[in-house]
Amino acid sequence: MIKGIKGVKDLLPEEMPRWRFIEETARRWATGYGFQEIRIPIFEITTLFARSIGASTDIVEKEMYTFQDRDGTSLTLRPEGTAGTVRAYIEHNRSSDPVPQKYFYFGPMFRHERPQAGRLRQFHQFGVESFGMADPRADVEVIALLWRILSDLALPGLTLEINNLGYTSDRDAYRPQLIAYLRQQDVALCGNCRRRIETNPLRVLDCKVPECRAATEPAPRLADSLSEKARAYFTGVLAGLDAIGIPYHLNHRLVRGLDYYCLTTFEVTTTNLGAQNAVGAGGRYDGLVETLGGPPTPAVGFAVGLERMAMMLPETALASAPGAATVYVAGFGDRGSAAGLSALEELRLVGIRAVSDFRSMTLKAHLRQADRLGCRFTLIVGDDEVTKGFGVLRNMETKVQCDVALPSLSLHVLPILRGS
Ligand code: ATP
Ligand code: MG
Repeated sequence: MIKGIKGVKDLLPEEMPRWRFIEETARRWATGYGFQEIRIPIFEITTLFARSIGASTDIVEKEMYTFQDRDGTSLTLRPEGTAGTVRAYIEHNRSSDPVPQKYFYFGPMFRHERPQAGRLRQFHQFGVESFGMADPRADVEVIALLWRILSDLALPGLTLEINNLGYTSDRDAYRPQLIAYLRQQDVALCGNCRRRIETNPLRVLDCKVPECRAATEPAPRLADSLSEKARAYFTGVLAGLDAIGIPYHLNHRLVRGLDYYCLTTFEVTTTNLGAQNAVGAGGRYDGLVETLGGPPTPAVGFAVGLERMAMMLPETALASAPGAATVYVAGFGDRGSAAGLSALEELRLVGIRAVSDFRSMTLKAHLRQADRLGCRFTLIVGDDEVTKGFGVLRNMETKVQCDVALPSLSLHVLPILRGS
């Protein structure tokens, strides 16, 4: 038997109500905040990701699914959605439209990671990107959207962490101080961090290994190297969050893995997911559009993991999700089977959720299937019913039955469904 790939999961029908509920909630809020859906390709030229995400990040160093096209071009399955969205934004000259460009997307992402609960090789993200506004209120809008979606889903134990990464020049001024400090501490750091001292020293602050956290606690802080302009911007973001009642925690260690962030960076974590405690994250990335060949364009966005949201979604939040079909059609006998098929279609045409199991040959077998499928009513149509011109509608809970005329069936069934 051929099995699926490790870390690449099937989403079975039982799981779909949670997923649909999450997707519909996210879509509703995003639309309400003025974001428009965009669908971008699942694979792109490799250099798009290498250049945007940054060569010395975990994603580019070891997590990308990269392969050669038949002509030798290097292609990569997208590990995240921002790079592709920015490419599309530039390629279609969206910046020439004076309206702010605000996009959201859903879709699978691919990263070669060690599979475990909440960490897959194909996983799904919902993300938003807001282009064109270098204003703290744009950061607030994006963060508020993320917070409202997660709160509306009633995901438990959420914390919004936020930090100021400053401008590139602020980080350039800070980096030598940090490197000097880390070099003194290198024996206390994990192998990964020791290597990162030279390649991506800020990431050491973000390491989850307890020894690394202890060793970097007294490290010089980026916050102390920030320019006035960067501080003022961040103060504006925090004031906006305060004004609309979004609770946050300052976390000076929050660095994020991607190189393209500047100023505001944020992450929402939960106490309910064990080791994989990040639900979603984002930040401002003012340099990226230009880096990828577009006009200078400030931007801010986030991405959340749908698997992690689905794992956290409380059962009670799903109460309003649609359940089983309403009417089971039990057609049996030569003429009854044919009339049953017509009845099924007629009910569906007026929007009634109707099903049947065409393998069942007897009324008894049909009623058993109707129970298994959780249908509220069964419409019984045997040869006798066809002769009389009346089917029998049976309430599966109360067992009460009544006759319904087969011609214009839906007209007779609808009032009964509404009244029950
Ligand atoms: P982590 O620290 O868990 O590796 P990350 O910083 O790599 O996360 P981002 O690139 O910011 O994650 O992606 C945003 C969100 O996408 C994460 O918060 C998480 O919910 C989800 N996510 C990222 N990688 C995976 C994965 N391999 N499997 C499932 N979900 C993931
Ligand atoms: Mg990761």
